Amino acid sequence: MLKLDPSGKICSFCGRDWSPDNRFAGGMGAMICVSCIDEYHAIMHSPRRSAAIARPPWDLMPDQELLEVLPKIVVTSEQVNGFLHDWVAVIRARKISWAEIGSVLGVSRQAAWERFRRTVEVAAEEPAPTR
Ligand SMILES: [Zn+2]
Repeated sequence: MLKLDPSGKICSFCGRDWSPDNRFAGGMGAMICVSCIDEYHAIMHSPRRSAAIARPPWDLMPDQELLEVLPKIVVTSEQVNGFLHDWVAVIRARKISWAEIGSVLGVSRQAAWERFRRTVEVAAEEPAPTR
């Protein structure tokens, strides 16, 4: 089930773990640490620094650094997928139908149920959909 405790989560921007000294803000699957907030705030309020990051960062990365980003993207993707399943469990706990979930995701009721039912069943020991 959805938890507000960010322990065990990573910053979606830099990949660092949450800690009491590296707190997070976020929602809808993305988490950002206080260090990144400070860094991006400074960049956004500096025309010189904003112009400096206008170029894609991968253009300047050596191959090894480019490769090292890949597992960070995988971990972030898994974190977001876990959040997605938690969010569907919250929706189902409100008795919002599988048809409505499928509709907003652009899939059938059956496809939504097949994708998320295991998480929801674990969260609420829910039976198969009836609405
Ligand atoms: Zn960060």
